[in-house]
Amino acid sequence: MAQIDSLPPLRDVIEQHDLRAKKSLGQNFLLDLNLTCRIARAAGTLETHTVIEVGPGPGGLTRALLHEGAKKVIAIEMDRRALGALNEIAHHYPGRLEIIEGDALKVDIKSLVPEGPVRIVANLPYNVGTQLLLGWLEQDPWPPFYDSLTLMFQKEVAERIIATQEDKAYGRLGVIAGWRCDAIKMFDVSREAFSPPPKVTSSIVHLTPRQAPLPCTLKYLEQVTAAAFGQRRKMLRQSLKSLGSDHLSLIEAAGLEPTQRAETVPVEGFVDMANALERLRSA
Ligand code: SAM
Repeated sequence: MAQIDSLPPLRDVIEQHDLRAKKSLGQNFLLDLNLTCRIARAAGTLETHTVIEVGPGPGGLTRALLHEGAKKVIAIEMDRRALGALNEIAHHYPGRLEIIEGDALKVDIKSLVPEGPVRIVANLPYNVGTQLLLGWLEQDPWPPFYDSLTLMFQKEVAERIIATQEDKAYGRLGVIAGWRCDAIKMFDVSREAFSPPPKVTSSIVHLTPRQAPLPCTLKYLEQVTAAAFGQRRKMLRQSLKSLGSDHLSLIEAAGLEPTQRAETVPVEGFVDMANALERLRSA
């Protein structure tokens, strides 16, 4: 295991602070600081950025972010038991680690961030990862308050995030992520890297906000994707029926075929249908 600082090895930290993993908090800890440094580097330049980390736990990724030069890390953790270990890290890197005890779903992250560029980097708890991602993708105004998201998900979720049309994993998440961000998979992380090992392989995804996504109102894009992928095996002329009697005009406005299925429609097609729906609803 790599020695990146003079703090104790993570295995010892977990034992000293009695951080036995709780399934209810999605706790699978990374113990290899080589690996956490690789994740930190996948986020890009850190020296100029404040990093928001959700769920630092015993602090493997936190230590890597600080070691790799993050100007400042703001770490949000809801498990009180981890606070002692995190305070030791804060002591080791004076003035560079701020710890917030709380539920990241309820914290107004944007308001925590000082002036200057921000990156979000996290090995997310599996039970709330997608919800947190959607919250970050649905920021208003856009471009958002962060420069990038570097996040760990279960491999299957990562594939849904980066999927484009014709990919098996393509669905609502891929449309929203692809509309607003450039999303790429960086690398896989095997189950054995975690303690305890989860059931499946994980992947690191890096998302960079598009400065000018195709103009569209999120609310309508969500309605169209929900209807289309809600019945993904059906043709659009059937699956979009729930949007109202004019649903065929949406398909026509987007230059699509009524016999197409949702999984063959690129992001631009959904954007065109969402814009047509907005015009219809505001007429
Ligand atoms: N970052 C550590 C690592 O890589 O070893 C821990 C990752 S573990 C998968 C997820 C962490 O998120 C746990 O420490 C857990 O307590 C924390 N957590 C779970 N739900 C949370 C929430 N809603 N808000 C903040 N932290 C949360």
